[in-house]
Amino acid sequence: MDSECLFCKIVSGDIPSTPVLDREAVYAFRDIHPSAPVHVLVVPKRHVADVRSIEIEHGALLVEMIDAAREVALAEGVGESGYRLIFNIGPDAGQTVFHLHLHVVGGAPMGPVARL
Ligand code: 5GP
Ligand code: ZN
Repeated sequence: MDSECLFCKIVSGDIPSTPVLDREAVYAFRDIHPSAPVHVLVVPKRHVADVRSIEIEHGALLVEMIDAAREVALAEGVGESGYRLIFNIGPDAGQTVFHLHLHVVGGAPMGPVARL
């Protein structure tokens, strides 16, 4: 737990969130400013700064996050219609929170990934 970290506070319940999925190592909750009809964030419960700090030993955690995202997508009704899994990394990608999180975005057709 990083006491300064927004998503650590969400995981601990100090800051309220709307849960979508709660597993032993991973928590999923609705994004406060959704950019699509379905916009859920999947985070590890233990603090990991971001994708750039991922190491081999995080492999099982990443698989867990992707598996949780699939369960979220099915529960939200976009498992078949499709969805995007997004890690924002650094300023040009718009990263604002430095606790690893996977965006699950869907519910409407989307344009090209990298349109500026
Ligand atoms: P990033 O841009 O770092 O990849 O994504 C951070 C996401 O966290 C943004 O989509 C933003 O809307 C969301 N967010 C920021 N603060 C809060 C909050 O307090 N609660 C929730 N549920 N989402 C938040
Ligand atoms: Zn954190």
